Amino acid sequence: MNLKDKLLHDYNSQLSYGGVNGERLAERLYQLSKIGLTEDNGSFRLGLSSEEKEAKHLVKEWMLQAGLEVTEDGAGNVFGKLQGNIEGNSTIMSGSHVDSVPNGGHFDGPLGVLTALEVVEAWKDTNVTPSKSFEIAIFTDEEGARFNGGFTGSGAITGQLDYSSQLKRVDGNGRTFEEVLLEYGSNEEKFRLAKRDLSEVELFVEVHIEQGKRLEKANLPVGIVSGIAGPSWMELNFYGEAGHAGNTPMDDRKDALVAASEFIYKVESLPSKVSPTAVATVGKMQVKPNGVNVIPGQVTLYVDIRDIFEDTRDSLIQLVLELAKEIAEKHHISVTNDEMLRIKPVPISKELHEKLEKTFIKNNVQPLYVPSGAGHDAMIIGNQVPTAMIFVRSKDGISHNPKEWSSLNDCVMGVHVLKDFIESLMR
Ligand SMILES: [Zn+2]
Repeated sequence: MNLKDKLLHDYNSQLSYGGVNGERLAERLYQLSKIGLTEDNGSFRLGLSSEEKEAKHLVKEWMLQAGLEVTEDGAGNVFGKLQGNIEGNSTIMSGSHVDSVPNGGHFDGPLGVLTALEVVEAWKDTNVTPSKSFEIAIFTDEEGARFNGGFTGSGAITGQLDYSSQLKRVDGNGRTFEEVLLEYGSNEEKFRLAKRDLSEVELFVEVHIEQGKRLEKANLPVGIVSGIAGPSWMELNFYGEAGHAGNTPMDDRKDALVAASEFIYKVESLPSKVSPTAVATVGKMQVKPNGVNVIPGQVTLYVDIRDIFEDTRDSLIQLVLELAKEIAEKHHISVTNDEMLRIKPVPISKELHEKLEKTFIKNNVQPLYVPSGAGHDAMIIGNQVPTAMIFVRSKDGISHNPKEWSSLNDCVMGVHVLKDFIESLMR
């Protein structure tokens, strides 16, 4: 069964009202799914690849058919604008990305673009011209799977990129970002010019699959994102003393791995001390010299620390560093730390939350707040523009996988709440 038939299989067509058309959304999700389709029925559309370009091209055609003014910047970001019917520049923007991880799913990204487009289609079908302008955005290379980066397009329009290191990034085939950019039809100068004055954008709102199980557990089709967590990546180096595993007595060792293990074990209990939404993970580690019969002399490990509030996230960073120091002292070894990344969490305002709550209640959906642990384009745009996010239920919480699934009923509910939310801002 193809994606469209699968989506329509259990669709409640009574959800197609107010100009919103579930069949059209299913057809478009299906058309996009065919670009870069993998053997496992997954999606393979890396940032700035010909597949990502083809997917953007297809959406551009739909945008043009819907009467939008379509532009593309030097970072490959695509914008489709519907002019509002009252004077002034105020614009509401919504969108997401169409790139994927290798063998990813068909909802992460495309859903945010197509729900925004469906809002425009619904207005068109009911002869509504919004009072304020509405702009749909497709951001380039959100996932970053190709160049080990991510948020390339949203970073470019907000000017939050380190351009020189970005241009030097290399993909799996040894090609630099700059080379790939040229092949894509842009260049460094145009890429830098993608930075845009966003002062006219009153609000950015992104619909995205939850990639977690909270909505599924609560049996709700959509949820309100309480805030978008900002990650901090910390590299820690524990320095002990390498020695012979046979000749060094147990009471005369400086084993870096024993200390690191105690650290990893104890990190788990720290997040709940600062906030119920905070998380910390040690997901990567190197042991030196890494020999069967050698006492570990050095351990390098990485801690990923996140929360949706900056103050509690930063307190957690402090707790993690204190813990590392305390454990190193106890084991008579030393530890150093180096912060590799620190992105501000994006709070979502109380006013926007209240508007979203009203929208949910109007659609008979109990408003449930869900934190976004993962980064999204909304996290980058949210540093400059008031931002909101709506999550759509993910089956089994699976994402970045061909099994990624959101029912058409839930996707269409995503369109309804998005549309009503935007309309509430137009008044
Ligand atoms: Zn995404």
